[in-house]
Amino acid sequence: MSKSILVTGGTKGIGRAIIFKFAAAGFDIYTCSRTQQDLDSLGEELKVEYPGIGYFAKTADLSKKEEVEAFAQWVKGHTVPDVLINNAGVFLPGSIHEEPEGNFELMMHTNLFSVYYLTRAFTQAMVERKSGHIFSMGSIAGMTAYGNGGTYAISKWALLGFTKCLRQEMLEHNVKVTSIMPGATFTASWEGAGIPEERFMKASDVAEAVWSAYSMSPQSVVEEIVIRPQLGDI
Ligand code: NAP
Repeated sequence: MSKSILVTGGTKGIGRAIIFKFAAAGFDIYTCSRTQQDLDSLGEELKVEYPGIGYFAKTADLSKKEEVEAFAQWVKGHTVPDVLINNAGVFLPGSIHEEPEGNFELMMHTNLFSVYYLTRAFTQAMVERKSGHIFSMGSIAGMTAYGNGGTYAISKWALLGFTKCLRQEMLEHNVKVTSIMPGATFTASWEGAGIPEERFMKASDVAEAVWSAYSMSPQSVVEEIVIRPQLGDI
C-alpha cells in the first residue's frame, strides 16, 4: 500500500515544495487550502508529473476550528497519514501595541490552534499504529524577538513549545516529531517585497531538509531543523 502525507497549505510555497518532494517518492498526497482553483491546478500538475499517486484535496479555512475538524474527519475517512506536515500559516506585520484588533486571534488560530486541533485528530491512531512522523512549520521568528511581527513570533514560539511537548509525549509510541524553523524563504508571501530572489532560501531546500529528516532510520529523530539564508536573516 502507498504511504501517505498530509500537508496543510499545499498549494503554494514551502507546502507545495514538500508535496512535490514526497510525490516523487510515490506518496499519496492529502492537502487543503482556502482556494479550490489552486487545489485543482495542483492536482492537474501532479497528475501529469506523477500519474501513479493518489491526490486528495479539500478546501478548509484552518483559522476556523470547525473547518479544521471537518477536514480532519474527511482525511480520516481515507487514511491516517504516515507523515503530517502542519505547514499552513499566516504572517501579518505589525507591533503588539499598535496592530489592528483581530490580528492576534487570526494568527494564533491559523498558526497555532489549527495545529493543535489537526494533530490531535491523528495522534491516537498513530499511537495505536506505532508509527508516524509529525512536522510543524515554525520559523526563525519563533526563536527571536521581532519588532514588526510580534504576534507572528508569539504564534511560532508557542508552536515550538507545542512541538517540543508533543515530542516528549510521542517518543515511547514510535511516533517522530520534528520542528522546522526556516528563515526567509522565497514564496508568495514575499512577492513584491522588493528584495532579490537570490537573497532568500529556496522552498525546495526546506523540502529537502524535511525529506532528509523523514528518511532517517527508526532509531533516530531530528528534533529541530534550523535553516537560514546563507547571508543571514532578512
Ligand atoms: P505561502 O506561500 O503564503 O503559502 C501558504 C499556504 O497556506 C497556501 O497554500 C495558502 O493557500 C495556505 N493557507 C494560508 N492560510 C490558510 C488558512 N487559513 N487555511 C488553510 N490554508 C491556508 O506560505 P509559505 O511562505 O510557504 O509559508 C508556509 C509556512 O512556512 C507558514 O507556516 C509560514 O509561517 C512558514 N514560514 C515561512 C517563511 C518564509 O519566509 N516564506 C519563513 C519561515 C516560516 P490559501 O491562501 O489559498 O488558503
